[in-house]
Amino acid sequence: MAVPLLDLKRQYATIKDKTDAAVLKVLEHCKFILGPEVKELEDKIAALSGVGFGIGVASGTDALLLALHAAGVGPGDEVVTSNFSFFASAGVVSRLGARPVFIDIEPDTYNIDPKLIEKAVTKKTKAIMPVHLFGQLADMDPIMELARARKLAVIEDAAQAIGAEYKGKRAGSFGEFGCFSFYPSKNLGGAGDGGMIVTNDKSRYDFAEILRVHGAHPKYFHKVIGYNSRLSTIQAAILLVKLEYLDAWSEKRRVHAKIYDAAFRGTAIKTPVAKNYSYHIYNQYTIAAENREDLMAGLKEKGIGHEIYYPVPFNRQECFKALGYKPHDFPVSEKAAAQVVSIPIYPELTSAEQEEVIEAVKSISA
Ligand SMILES: *Cc1c(COP(=O)(O)O)cnc(C)c1O
Repeated sequence: MAVPLLDLKRQYATIKDKTDAAVLKVLEHCKFILGPEVKELEDKIAALSGVGFGIGVASGTDALLLALHAAGVGPGDEVVTSNFSFFASAGVVSRLGARPVFIDIEPDTYNIDPKLIEKAVTKKTKAIMPVHLFGQLADMDPIMELARARKLAVIEDAAQAIGAEYKGKRAGSFGEFGCFSFYPSKNLGGAGDGGMIVTNDKSRYDFAEILRVHGAHPKYFHKVIGYNSRLSTIQAAILLVKLEYLDAWSEKRRVHAKIYDAAFRGTAIKTPVAKNYSYHIYNQYTIAAENREDLMAGLKEKGIGHEIYYPVPFNRQECFKALGYKPHDFPVSEKAAAQVVSIPIYPELTSAEQEEVIEAVKSISA
């Protein structure tokens, strides 16, 4: 039996009637740009994150871009971030004319290693951008402490971590801004691109909000040069339906993770580490193996979905060549990039399918 890495059709089947009705409602009221559903979703995601305000934008990438911009990041500045993430985390820094400064990761969580941040901070450093990778928050206490001491902004890349917690506090509520993605494969995924910035500060909210409409306030009076980056009302309507299920879906991912953890105990497979401080939402279940290429060949043969997140750390990306990093600068990221592979963990995965994945992984990794 083939098992896909993700199957969005199954999720749609469980909420088809409500989703279809929500989309039709928007088609009828025709408030396609920043309609009432966008505001409702902003309020609900802000509440879920434990902050005051939400700003719906066109993608998770734009959420990061506008948040960094609103935090004052520009040409000549440096932004410290993880060396091991989806490309957007680094790309947005360069797009603002600033320099991304890459930091190696912790070997167990794959998140930015807080111990390595301080010596990367210079007079030019403006912000720290931790990435909450795979659904688990970075170790935020030392990061916030350093940011306070050095007066740096913190922008959380929480694209994979909506609803996840660190010591009982939600992703997106630590820094000046938190950024979420509604890319379809995220725990709360839309029917296309979408994203949201959250913040607890009214003046930051006001600035980020005008950035998404070309910097205009009021309309046609441009305070700054902004963007056209708005969450579509249709997406918001769909996301409002799905939001009702988010906690239950993330719980199911956690149950699947527990089953995998137990099944792979005592094997050569390295399972993801959920720290005591974490409520991990498992956007991905990412294992590591020394014989990863054999493992992947076996999974492919058996029709089991899998993907490497991420095969090339930032220090080795061609577009960042001019930054002058060397592979040996980042031993932990390099090892992760060589060994990790993510396997199916979506909420609708059946027990029979999960058993199939477990058998396949064990038979190859033995
Ligand atoms: C998905 C993702 C993004 C970008 O989100 P998009 O909505 O695809 O633009 C940024 N950072 C991380 C860590 C992500 O996983």
